Amino acid sequence: MDFLFGPVPSRRLGLSLGINIIPFKVCSYRCIYCEVGKTTDLSIERKSFFEVELIEKEFKDNIGKLGKIDFVTFSGSGEPTLNKDIGRLIDFVKGFGYRTAVLTNGSLLWREDVKRDLLRADIVIPSLDAADEDSFKKINRPHPSLSLTKIIHGIADFNHSFSGQMWLEILFVEGVNDSKRNVKALIDAIKLINPDKIQLGTVDRPPTLPWAEKLSFEKLNLIADNMRSKLNAEIEIIGGFDKENEEFEEDKERAILKLINIRPCSRVELMKIFKIDKKELENILDRFSKEGKAFEYSYGGKDFITGSMARIAGIGLED
Ligand code: SF4
Repeated sequence: MDFLFGPVPSRRLGLSLGINIIPFKVCSYRCIYCEVGKTTDLSIERKSFFEVELIEKEFKDNIGKLGKIDFVTFSGSGEPTLNKDIGRLIDFVKGFGYRTAVLTNGSLLWREDVKRDLLRADIVIPSLDAADEDSFKKINRPHPSLSLTKIIHGIADFNHSFSGQMWLEILFVEGVNDSKRNVKALIDAIKLINPDKIQLGTVDRPPTLPWAEKLSFEKLNLIADNMRSKLNAEIEIIGGFDKENEEFEEDKERAILKLINIRPCSRVELMKIFKIDKKELENILDRFSKEGKAFEYSYGGKDFITGSMARIAGIGLED
């Protein structure tokens, strides 16, 4: 399978089967904290990156073998709304009776075609890390033609027409988007957007730029309390897995490889997700390492495994 990964236990979505419809690494942003790796194609051009029939066939042929799935989630190696087939694919997946979620950076929701496509989803989770120009440019490093005002109004307009749930995700990086001024601008934008839920997070996997530092839990909590006092919305702090996958039936080695190609994982996470012990995991990682398929590196005092040397070597656009 090339497009499907998981199901992966996700605290937010339960058992989530991912569909990666974007090649590595096409995105409209170059976030300093990105865990996928450096953006090599900074773009706002929507395309059919793959033959849509191939994605549909892979889904149809495998969905019955993958056990329990709570959500089918469009995400992966870049910004999923850049794939112009996303609307058709959401309809296709829903035709099998599954609930759909889209993880997006929200940068293109002002476009009528993107809006039309995502209105079909059950949950849309856009990110908005900054609502002031300085920190927006610093943290997300957007495509030069994107306007922050247009993006915020695009997310708000979308939500006014959307009958599903919108969960707004904000990721904080120490010293970049966490000042009182930054948080005030975010609160004003959130009032306009009116999401069902706000999810606050910080860097907890190796970021694209090594200097992007996580916020302490105390600081994140203070921001959450500040927002709670000013907003009439559910606010939660997210991060980590808390549910085990009971029914993972795909070949484990292939599944591990696919996951670490999308997201760096610690050994503990891999053991928990794939229900394997340390010895079995070490054997698999040893084989991957000899075949040049997995690489290990440290971030924040924790060791992570990634499937792409590019994530470590920083191959991509100049920073
Ligand atoms: S975090 Fe998301 S939006 Fe930011 S560069 Fe990575 S894929 Fe793109």
